[in-house]
Amino acid sequence: MKVLLVEDDDALATVLAEALHEAGVLVERAGSGGQADFLVRTEVYDAAILDLGLPDGDGSRWLAEWREDAIELPVLVLTARTRWADKATGFSAGADDYVTKPFETAEVLFRLRALVRRSHGHAHPVLRIGELAFDTHTGSVTLAGRPVSLTAQESRLLAYLAHAAPRVVSRSELAEHVYDRDHEPDSNVIDVQISRLRRKLGAERIETRRGQGYRLSGSAEAS
Ligand code: CA
Repeated sequence: MKVLLVEDDDALATVLAEALHEAGVLVERAGSGGQADFLVRTEVYDAAILDLGLPDGDGSRWLAEWREDAIELPVLVLTARTRWADKATGFSAGADDYVTKPFETAEVLFRLRALVRRSHGHAHPVLRIGELAFDTHTGSVTLAGRPVSLTAQESRLLAYLAHAAPRVVSRSELAEHVYDRDHEPDSNVIDVQISRLRRKLGAERIETRRGQGYRLSGSAEAS
């Protein structure tokens, strides 16, 4: 999962970014609405965390512009304000969910994961693809009930394929969602990581569609 964190409070952003990183989330940061605006228009993210009190205008104003321009990424609004009117403004601008400061980072993570899951059309926190089960909250993977141990990068790859299943995902789409923009790999690196995943999960679980990309085989169903 790759997330854009828009927050001008550097100390808060650092703490939150570290907690998200620890949980296996790739985080890119913007300290102003203008910077966030540039990034959401040029990069691909699975979700954004958006502070409302930004130095160059209210976050909800930027959000309203993105929605106007059909930028549909899930947005979790973060703000110190507790007044209902501010929440209402955030929601009418197009926010998908809300966390009020001070917050527990665990709550931000739970809400973020739920937003991303729902943006792919899944309601249940455990994604099942045949005998494979991917728990979107814990990141744990089981195959026919037996736990499978994955590296952080393998886990991000599998998470993206599992959210997208049964759709075929191209290498470039994987690269955009699973690597940060300073470390975008060539397609060879993705192939190598896919083969490692195949060794752990069984080769038949990840199909290669020539010229199209990869898909997890079996239909994705909530348990
Ligand atoms: Ca702020």
